[in-house]
Amino acid sequence: MQYQSTRGNGAQITAAQAIAQGLSENGGLYVPENFPQLSEKTISDLASMSYKDRAAYILDLYLSDFSIDEISRYTSEAYSMPNFSNPAIAPLHKLDKSTHFLELWHGPTCAFKDMALQMLPHLLTASLRKIGEKRQVCVLVATSGDTGKAALEGFCDISGTKVMVFYPDEGVSDVQKLQMTTQEGENVNVVAIEGNFDDAQAGVKAIFSDAHLQKELDKAGFLLSSANSINWGRLVPQIVYYISAYCDLINQAEITPGEKINFCVPTGNFGNILAAYYAMKMGLPIGKLVCASNSNDVLTEFLKSGIYDKNRQFFTTVSPSMDILVSSNLERLLFDIMGRDGQCISNLMAALNTDGRYVVQGHFKDEIDRIFSGGMCSEEDTLKTIATTYHEHKYLMDTHTAVAYKVLSDYRNKTGDETKSVIVSTASPFKFCDSVLSALGCDNTGDGMKLLKLLAQYTQTDTPTPLAALEGKKARFLTSISIDNMKTEVLKFLKG
Ligand SMILES: *Cc1c(COP(=O)(O)O)cnc(C)c1O
Repeated sequence: MQYQSTRGNGAQITAAQAIAQGLSENGGLYVPENFPQLSEKTISDLASMSYKDRAAYILDLYLSDFSIDEISRYTSEAYSMPNFSNPAIAPLHKLDKSTHFLELWHGPTCAFKDMALQMLPHLLTASLRKIGEKRQVCVLVATSGDTGKAALEGFCDISGTKVMVFYPDEGVSDVQKLQMTTQEGENVNVVAIEGNFDDAQAGVKAIFSDAHLQKELDKAGFLLSSANSINWGRLVPQIVYYISAYCDLINQAEITPGEKINFCVPTGNFGNILAAYYAMKMGLPIGKLVCASNSNDVLTEFLKSGIYDKNRQFFTTVSPSMDILVSSNLERLLFDIMGRDGQCISNLMAALNTDGRYVVQGHFKDEIDRIFSGGMCSEEDTLKTIATTYHEHKYLMDTHTAVAYKVLSDYRNKTGDETKSVIVSTASPFKFCDSVLSALGCDNTGDGMKLLKLLAQYTQTDTPTPLAALEGKKARFLTSISIDNMKTEVLKFLKG
């Protein structure tokens, strides 16, 4: 399997090269040349395997320059206890006869980013070895909260790597901030920036395209790479849990093999739902992909009108990991839908850069409509959904998952589509205990540690171990900088 850039001329590179490089030189994202097909027989074979073996099988289809032994070693290390607190790794929770939650937050940082970031360090260090890279790699991360911690945890003390995280000072929850600023490890750095996630992401992209800076880092023995979902090594492990969820539904006799199901995904950068689309391209029986947004509903608008327009107000919401106006991975979807035409994508992205908008029309838009449906959930409805679901079903969701559940309910009411549906649950409710407590009508004043305990008391459940372990930890990283200083900060970290 070879890879090509969404803005390129079709030139191909290996998986290891794509993962090592992250973003292509022309600013495009790497995509596989085609999608390996899963037959019904293969899916039923996968159904009898453990999560790590399903993962190894699927990754092997895409990473042809990795041996199956290598891949199996990595999936065994990544997807095992006690790294994950649930032996199923990505278990389903049945809410009612046609609604299931796919819980992706049983990993070390309690959010779905662990599903990929427990694998990426293995894939990235191996890729660098395979391409003969001698320099140390520095992973730069722009985070809306969850990627940062998951990358820190994944890369912590991995030799030959350094990791540097930029997060928006005012845009993350108390618990998220605590998780990042108390991170241990010799090779890590965490810096707050005065701005929002899009500013952080733009700053990191600017560093990547700064040839002068790269030269300077090269002399100092460093190579930059990315742990954001622009990196193929981040995306490919995410395809696995869609297929795995389907297998589990078969095993639990909830569906018959071949039956179509819908997925509803709380969406920000479009990485998670893109992985669902890729699973569908591989032949997984999927009816609709429902894309759920919070008040930053640039994607909902796009799916309605075909106009992607980031010139709009930015809201800080109770689902901060989705507070994004530039959804990078949409580029990969468009590339696939629009006949894999690199020039066409280059033009759209140039328009996004200069005018902040682009338009997709005609049969391309029809094709998107055939597969996707979009919806928005307000702040008020997010909190209401948490409360009513808890009171009716004793099931507690985090704010992001609640956005998805509400949008799926709206979609069902509007269309009458009764296809069995899986809601992708992306974070533990404890990670956003402040908003979850307020949804439940509880006192939510106090620091993150106090709120974790309040939520545990109220729900009579245990605080997830990694969050309880934050108790008494001292913040190591207190630097806050303006966006203009991001480059300087990288140099300071790497060159001392
Ligand atoms: C990152 C994140 C999302 C958004 O996922 P994308 O791949 O960026 O669309 C949703 N919920 C949570 C909790 C997240 O951490």
